[in-house]
Amino acid sequence: MSYFLLSKNAGLSRIRKPILGCVVLTSMLFFRSHMSLTEEERARYSRHLKIPGIDEDVQLRLKKGSILVIGLGGLGSPASLYLAAAGVGKIGLAEFDRVESHNLQRQILYTEEGIGKKKIDLAKRRLQEMNESAEIVLHDQGIDPKNVRDIFSQYDVILDGSDNFDTRYLVNDACFLEKKPLVYGSVFQFEGQVMVLNDSSEAPCYRCLFPEPPAPGTVPNCSEAGVMGAICGVIGSLQAMEALKLLGKFGSVKSGILLKVDVFNNRFSKIALKKNCNCPLCGEEPRIIDLGTENYSVPCSLPVIESNLKVMNIEISVEQAKQVIDEENGCLLDVREPDEWEICEIKGAVRIPMGSVADRINELPKERPLIVQCHHGMRSLRVVNYLRSVGFENASSMKGGIAAWADAFDPSMARY
Ligand SMILES: [Zn+2]
Repeated sequence: MSYFLLSKNAGLSRIRKPILGCVVLTSMLFFRSHMSLTEEERARYSRHLKIPGIDEDVQLRLKKGSILVIGLGGLGSPASLYLAAAGVGKIGLAEFDRVESHNLQRQILYTEEGIGKKKIDLAKRRLQEMNESAEIVLHDQGIDPKNVRDIFSQYDVILDGSDNFDTRYLVNDACFLEKKPLVYGSVFQFEGQVMVLNDSSEAPCYRCLFPEPPAPGTVPNCSEAGVMGAICGVIGSLQAMEALKLLGKFGSVKSGILLKVDVFNNRFSKIALKKNCNCPLCGEEPRIIDLGTENYSVPCSLPVIESNLKVMNIEISVEQAKQVIDEENGCLLDVREPDEWEICEIKGAVRIPMGSVADRINELPKERPLIVQCHHGMRSLRVVNYLRSVGFENASSMKGGIAAWADAFDPSMARY
């Protein structure tokens, strides 16, 4: 109501200026209607407006704002549905894929009737059924290095629901260059991660944590590793929540706080990650200053998996790791973050966070077996891939990470 009164008064004062009056009054009336909720909207979003801290201004910011959803799969499905339901005025969709039967286990935008049809068309229809006043903008070619900055410039917040590293790095880089906040999410089997990146100059970007993409074939994706449908619902909904907070300017948004969810063990944990001054994108001496200087592969494609054998070769079990450490003078490298070391650690491990391994590579032995370890074995696998690419043929990743170690050898170890 305060917006209505303010704009009404402003409009009346303009009437006294005869030359510009009509133009200004017309524009102010449009402005006024745009700046207030209708009675229908007040009723529709009443369960938002009843929450302390959510007032009409917040709902108006959602109405006037825009969010781009990259990928309409397991994460983009629940995320886009909640954005439309919440009253976001403009929702962009970037996707070029078609529905396949194995999508239906988690991609809740679609039904069996949609198999073979373009996801983006089905999604638009579904979202428009949910909220016909939302403007749904389609980017049916997906994103690529040529169009991405232009597309991102049209939105306030970017929500990444992509399922591959090429797109994830492209989205991250374009968000940094276009100064757009990014809500990152990923899922793997029973686990998922959510994090807000790049929402201020102090915030880290994705490359601060993982400077370079993994080589094709070294990290399995959902196609190879599998994923539970419901974890996509959890993570996609959390992404929608963070995007709504950014757009509506309410609640607490903490960039660089990685929220990890493990639905198999009912564990939620947070890790505080910091900006990396050596980051190739947002660091003090950036290597990436334009998207044209980077080699991004075809967007939204699944990484080519050379063979599972390669993954197996560079991973060893916790039992093998312990044997190598105890009997072959193996060196254990812990690539988790300092917050994680404080919770638990394996005695004797060398501590270097993943993002600093490249800078501190001289501290690592080449003449001894090198066992790399993280929380669950994903980060360590990537580090080993990198180490092998720079000549550390002796490096292996400890499968299952410190969690598997605790299960096998130290059940009293603190978990997170
Ligand atoms: Zn960075």
